[in-house]
Amino acid sequence: MNADTFTNVALEAGRLAAGICRRVQQEQVVETQEKAGKEPVTVADYASQAVILRALSLHCGDHAILAEENSENLRAGDDAHVADRVRELVSDALGEPVTMEQLCAWIDHQGDADSPYMWAIDPIDGTKGFLRKAQYAVAIGLLRERVPVAGALVCPNLAVDPNDEGGARGVVFHAYEQAGAFQFPLDGGDTTPIRANATTDAADVRVLGSVESSHGDPRLLTALVEELGFGGGIVRVDSQVKYGVLARGDAEVYLRPRSKPDWRDNAWDHVAGVAVAKEAGGRSTDVVGRPLDFSFGAKMEENVGVLTTHGPLHDEIVACLKRLVES
Ligand code: AMP
Ligand code: MG
Repeated sequence: MNADTFTNVALEAGRLAAGICRRVQQEQVVETQEKAGKEPVTVADYASQAVILRALSLHCGDHAILAEENSENLRAGDDAHVADRVRELVSDALGEPVTMEQLCAWIDHQGDADSPYMWAIDPIDGTKGFLRKAQYAVAIGLLRERVPVAGALVCPNLAVDPNDEGGARGVVFHAYEQAGAFQFPLDGGDTTPIRANATTDAADVRVLGSVESSHGDPRLLTALVEELGFGGGIVRVDSQVKYGVLARGDAEVYLRPRSKPDWRDNAWDHVAGVAVAKEAGGRSTDVVGRPLDFSFGAKMEENVGVLTTHGPLHDEIVACLKRLVES
């Protein structure tokens, strides 16, 4: 695996997935099921995962896969129209008819669990944002020996120019270890290197958090901003788009506290974003400063939330969070 192979495979798959997501998001009614734990899953989540894992099975078939969805509910046959719609979306995206067997095999593709390479895939990160027609990301991350080494974040609704919210939307972020981090407009345009902001002035610092208050602990964000005098305020954005925003210098801190004591973050919600932020100069730990540990598979069992920053204030922020969490 190298930067070129990763970028080719991830961006081709990510583009197909984003095309499906955009098409579904424009529909009046988005076919949705409810997963255990009351998380929504739409036809676009399944179709996006199918095209991404198909690409990985073709090009990186001997790598391991960690992905959010599985075909259990589609196979159950309770919602035949949902399965038919997913099959139609995938067939249209690939330009060839797809059988139910193929579709489910792609969605469930797991590769070789013993491979040193493991892909962490969230076919639609921020499904709630997607349904609100706000921000969401197709997240394609790669671990080597359980350490994030590469990531691609396709963000179909993010403004290309952060100063022109009414302008073109759709941004792709990608990074590979020691090869740098980049962005380009999803609908065409130049690829440019990105870098996290370097400010050390608290008055400039902007803190990213979830739109969904149940996904974190908004009080801890407010307390951090007040304690350290961060003057840029709190910016609420759905999904791993937050990592892209930080990596291109439009915010300095992404704080994701545990939403409840027994919550454990999902690897596919962070691997791609952490890799992009790191190559742009950022730092990631958990909220109390421990290294992120992706060795447990889907769940980050040993971490308390996630903190990513632009770098220079990371230790100071961790020290403050420890005081706040312990008080
Ligand atoms: P965000 O849009 O940043 O809030 O993150 C979206 C992600 O939040 C989804 O992909 C889910 O995996 C995750 N999520 C769902 N429920 C919770 C919860 N109760 N606490 C924390 N994260 C959650
Ligand atoms: Mg997610």
